[in-house]
Amino acid sequence: MAKYKRVILKLSGEALAGEQGFGIDNGVLKSIAEQIKEVRDIGVEVAIVVGGGNIWRGATASHKGMERATADYMGMLATTINSLALQDALESIGVVTRVQTAIEMRQIAEPYIRRRAINHLSKGRVVIFAAGTGNPYFSTDTTAALRAAEIGAETILLAKGKVDGVYDSDPLTNPDAKKFDELTYIEVLKRGLGVMDSTATSLCMDNNIPLIVFALSEKGNIKKAVMGEKIGTIIRGDKND
Ligand code: UDP
Repeated sequence: MAKYKRVILKLSGEALAGEQGFGIDNGVLKSIAEQIKEVRDIGVEVAIVVGGGNIWRGATASHKGMERATADYMGMLATTINSLALQDALESIGVVTRVQTAIEMRQIAEPYIRRRAINHLSKGRVVIFAAGTGNPYFSTDTTAALRAAEIGAETILLAKGKVDGVYDSDPLTNPDAKKFDELTYIEVLKRGLGVMDSTATSLCMDNNIPLIVFALSEKGNIKKAVMGEKIGTIIRGDKND
């Protein structure tokens, strides 16, 4: 039996890029879709928030002189491109999906309607939330926190491309970096750990939504996370929760 009945899976854009570091890697996409199917098949309701960093990042473009809001809207469109790619990969292996966008694009997806999303989930459909929150200056991590609170998800699974949890320094550059098994949100904020941006972290903390940070590169990790197996780093409001 799965530990969680309804989860939000947050996939960073980079997780879709694979080794090439940008764009969408079809092999990676297929592998992620299979892992999602595996947990859907054991009855877990899965809603997904996809990032867009593999295509476009608003803040980076704005540092180079573009107006921030415009750059961010482009980022939200990038998340929609990724969402459609993931929808295609899931449908091709028999998983029924719906994409809901926070900015209306009726020809390609449903608009975000909370009650409708919950209805889809209860019917075993995988719902993909695209276009972030619909607002510039936010991130898809914040989108994951917001949607988790709205639909009553029990946890957010924060799937990274390579890094398999939260470390006290960057494990890709520091071989002595130490991984945390458990943390509280207050510790994350106090230590300034780069797990999510502070808006997303605060939203999770205020609504007491646990977060499991793990790597997608190891197959079967999404299932392990929903089964309650100890993987990556778990972040909670209180360690005793
Ligand atoms: N974005 C936004 N509002 C949102 C969500 C996303 O403006 O509610 C924009 C922002 O420019 C961001 C880009 O979309 O840089 C891609 O999202 P994010 O950086 O969160 O993707 P990830 O890092 O997860 O790939």
